[in-house]
Amino acid sequence: MSDSLYSVDNQVHSFCSHDGRASINDQCARAVEIGLNEIGFTEHKDFDPFDPEVDYFDYDEYRAQIERARQLYGDVLDIRAGIEIDYQIWFEDKIASYLASHPFDFVLGSVHYIHRKMLMTDDYNRGRTRQIAYKDYFSAVKDSVKTGLFDVLAHLEYANRRGIAAWGPYDPAEFEDDLLGLFETTAQTPMALEINTAGLHQGLGITYPHPHTVRLFARAGGKRISIGSDSHHPDQLGHAYDYAANIAQDNGFSKVCTWHERALKEVPISS
Ligand SMILES: [Zn+2]
Repeated sequence: MSDSLYSVDNQVHSFCSHDGRASINDQCARAVEIGLNEIGFTEHKDFDPFDPEVDYFDYDEYRAQIERARQLYGDVLDIRAGIEIDYQIWFEDKIASYLASHPFDFVLGSVHYIHRKMLMTDDYNRGRTRQIAYKDYFSAVKDSVKTGLFDVLAHLEYANRRGIAAWGPYDPAEFEDDLLGLFETTAQTPMALEINTAGLHQGLGITYPHPHTVRLFARAGGKRISIGSDSHHPDQLGHAYDYAANIAQDNGFSKVCTWHERALKEVPISS
């Protein structure tokens, strides 16, 4: 982590997520060790009643653990209590009512499934062409943005996690119209586009989204960037932060977003 960068990892999971592999305190200890200024926890919250993990997330337990971590690390680290919402259009109302009664510092909107089918699996791809498989995904992301429920457009192009294996190499130029349309809609909201480095530590070799897609976001008038490692284990925390910060800066974004009780603050990436 370069000393001159303001480093805030805005996508971090713990045992409060069904697939987390660290405690909140473990992640905070690692954050201090690698010199993060700020850590934003974003546990998974799901709403599909048929999902076996649907009730895994425990809001009160999460807030209690965040409070304990703030007591231990609060003088050296800003700790945010965020949430990663799995968005599917058919339970949009449930998301809205949940967020109305459960306060968070910030909220990520993520598309992992469309109508209960995980993106780019055989089940999802059946009956779709490559073009339609991606276009349907971008259209679902646009629906999520239009809800106005979220602060962050999280891991855009996450479809590539399985899409590249299923359909071959991905070039954002092929979907430029879809992406520009999505970003024009996003630019009318306060939402930030996340540069998520999980594609790098998952072996995909590219960020979510692709650096060229970040360029399209800038071209469409996009104003805000968030950076997240999607760390589920302390080894992944802050992964390739400098690289993500460079992608932002190369495309004219000089600030990174953070949120406290849903209030946005933009901090210069470099001092
Ligand atoms: Zn996710």
